[in-house]
Amino acid sequence: MTQATFRFYEELNDFLAPERRGHEFASRCARAATTKHMIEALGVPHTEVELVLVNGESVGFDRLLADGDRVAVYPKFEALDVTPLLRVREQPLRDTRFVADAHLGGLAHLLRMTGFDTLYDNHYPDDEIERIAATQGRIVLTRDRELLKRRGITHGCYVHALRSELQLREVFQRLDLARSARPFTRCLSCNALLRPIDPVLAAPLVPPRVRAQHDRFVACEGCGRIFWEGSHWRRMRETIDACCGVQALSAAQ
Ligand SMILES: [Zn+2]
Repeated sequence: MTQATFRFYEELNDFLAPERRGHEFASRCARAATTKHMIEALGVPHTEVELVLVNGESVGFDRLLADGDRVAVYPKFEALDVTPLLRVREQPLRDTRFVADAHLGGLAHLLRMTGFDTLYDNHYPDDEIERIAATQGRIVLTRDRELLKRRGITHGCYVHALRSELQLREVFQRLDLARSARPFTRCLSCNALLRPIDPVLAAPLVPPRVRAQHDRFVACEGCGRIFWEGSHWRRMRETIDACCGVQALSAAQ
């Protein structure tokens, strides 16, 4: 039987059994166990891991563990520069696009509000989420760590917060989204892009009161709904500013 020692850093400890948090511990490994296999067996989804060192050397998820190995496992770094080291995931995804699991509808809407392409359907089974993530190169958002252990999911984000506004803030911080946010450019209902529309064309489609008070409108390319900067829009803008520190831009600008 192979035995290795493990040390997990920072928030990765949240996934461990309490007695294993914050210090090195020994664990038996199955025969031919890889780093990914053992990290997940100890409770940490591989999507949460950014760097693995075995005996001080950076390795991939497929490294086989040998007796006496010392394994250090790190989450995404903010302060410490690890660029000279090999990260476990070579390629960042080119576009930041998401698929949210069934329990994160509120977060999915807030991400659409900030302009991020986010698929969400509360009937998606886990297999479908895995397939969408793999074929479309989407980051999986979930509070289900078992989902993140699936082989087809290379990029995921375990969401710790419970309230959707706090979840948005958490995802923005972890993935550094503020600079690429484009608030009010995407339909909250169907995820398609919004385009400015001539007020003359919009006029017959909106209530007379709205027509009298607004002269800028956007239309959804997917479902055709018309939006304007009403009170609901202003409340959303305040939410985004508070959550993400994003200077909200209107779609019509
Ligand atoms: Zn739409």
